[in-house]
Amino acid sequence: MQYRKLVNDGEDLSVLGYGCMRFPSKNGRIDKEKTEKQLLYAYENGVNYYDTAYPYHNGKSEVILGEFIKKHDLRDKVYIADKLPTFFITKSQQIQKYFDTQLERLSTDYIDYYLMHMLDSLTSWEKLKRLGIIDFIKEKKESGQIKHIGFSFHGRPEEFIKILDDYDWEFCQIQFNYLDEYNQAGLAGLKKAYEKGIGVVIMEPLRGGNLAAKAPDKVKKKFDEYSEKRSAAFWALRWIWNHKEVGVVLSGMNVDEHIEENIKVANLTTANSMSEEEIEIVDEVKEIYRHLMKVPCTGCNYCMPCPFGVAIPSIFSEYNDKYFFNSRLSQLQYIGRVLGVFGASKSGANLCTACGKCEKHCPQNIQIRKELKNAHKELDSKVIKLIVKIAMKFIGLKGTKKKRSGI
Ligand code: SF4
Ligand code: SF4
Repeated sequence: MQYRKLVNDGEDLSVLGYGCMRFPSKNGRIDKEKTEKQLLYAYENGVNYYDTAYPYHNGKSEVILGEFIKKHDLRDKVYIADKLPTFFITKSQQIQKYFDTQLERLSTDYIDYYLMHMLDSLTSWEKLKRLGIIDFIKEKKESGQIKHIGFSFHGRPEEFIKILDDYDWEFCQIQFNYLDEYNQAGLAGLKKAYEKGIGVVIMEPLRGGNLAAKAPDKVKKKFDEYSEKRSAAFWALRWIWNHKEVGVVLSGMNVDEHIEENIKVANLTTANSMSEEEIEIVDEVKEIYRHLMKVPCTGCNYCMPCPFGVAIPSIFSEYNDKYFFNSRLSQLQYIGRVLGVFGASKSGANLCTACGKCEKHCPQNIQIRKELKNAHKELDSKVIKLIVKIAMKFIGLKGTKKKRSGI
């Protein structure tokens, strides 16, 4: 296993982190026996960073991780990353309450790496500041209950930089893979964090598994041209670890073979170790994906910001994912965007007024207005919207305010 640091003078962390959001299940429940076996296998093969969050498996992820660490007496041998569910917080007192619940669920009295979960804009961070988060962090760091502080991010590139610059963060967590170089925080965000000495944890290295098993045949064929037989997942992970700016890469592993393979790549890949030939193959694969895309958006962001709040590149990314991989997750993300929930502000294609400002700036000459309409038609679903609304009502959450409707 390779180890890198997230924090200057900090701990040596395994480059492969265990994402505890997708434990294996049996009969609709977490398969505890299998989960423990897999967690132990990862630990015995050098994994020492375990990432969970308040909502994962309805809180069971924290509980099971805590039980595993306690049972095997690993508290001083592994590092726990957990996240404050910022999207549930409307009152100051809730911050302490959620934190206490998390310590209890994890059977621990401190959290090594604590993140503000799913910030999507400076506004979401400012909301927390108004509710007293700065004093809370200060107190917890002084008491040793939080060792390192960071945030996880899903949002526009410019918002990532604003959040990064607004506080003395030690680390952050972003989505990054060879198809998302220009989405969300992207490569620019990764480099900016690195320059500022802020460690970066990577999530969705395989885009929810889409860059692995669901890779199109053309992509698999291109990878097969290489002298050594490797899976699409192997290539995707290797490409990420080749970046020296990357700290820990999280993988939501729940299949034995995948865990073994991930560990194998993590053992092999050091920063800047990919040959020119390998980089060329990945570049060609990116091109294949680009040609298969419904909308040839590169995520360059030149069309942004839209004066009406439409998240143009993110919507095209969700549209392409739905088309490529028939990804339900991307559809859910889009509906979250329309409703202004799941950490996203209201930024769906339905807000487009067809003013045309964006199209003047698109180097790909995309007919953005037309494609936004198509994307909305493909991704919007009354049934899913209703389910989400009922679920949000049930857990007492409200969406962000609507701006204006166009389409
Ligand atoms: S055409 Fe639509 S998406 Fe483009 S800038 Fe105008 S409102 Fe925004
Ligand atoms: S300018 Fe064009 S290619 Fe760039 S993000 Fe906007 S739509 Fe995509």
